[in-house]
Amino acid sequence: MMKISHVGIAVRDLAAAEAIFKKLLEDDRVHHEEVADQKVRIASFELGDSRIELTQPTESDSPISKFLEKRGEGIHHLAFEVEDVAAELARLKAKGFELIDETPRPGSHHTRIAFLHPRSTNGVLIELCQKEDH
Ligand code: ZN
Repeated sequence: MMKISHVGIAVRDLAAAEAIFKKLLEDDRVHHEEVADQKVRIASFELGDSRIELTQPTESDSPISKFLEKRGEGIHHLAFEVEDVAAELARLKAKGFELIDETPRPGSHHTRIAFLHPRSTNGVLIELCQKEDH
């Protein structure tokens, strides 16, 4: 695990949340992206060596929609940057962690990502995040 890549925050209204975080961080440089695989739209802010990712669902069956229904807006996940997601998944599985993704999937900012189940990590949804060579 190299560092915290980003903190994902689930929001209902991306434009409204973005306005709040622009004020909070005093930063107008926002990166917008849609991640079709997760059915979300993201507005992200660089913060030092990591990012804050505001995440709004684009479909009612998005994982973020389910989270918003159950828990409301708030911190959704913590993402750790790793060298090799597949290798980390194998290591963590062998140590008894429960995986949501058995294999890496596409993430934002040209990354390959995978989630661990919060059941095995004290209620925290953890994402592993590997930069793609491009
Ligand atoms: Zn993430």
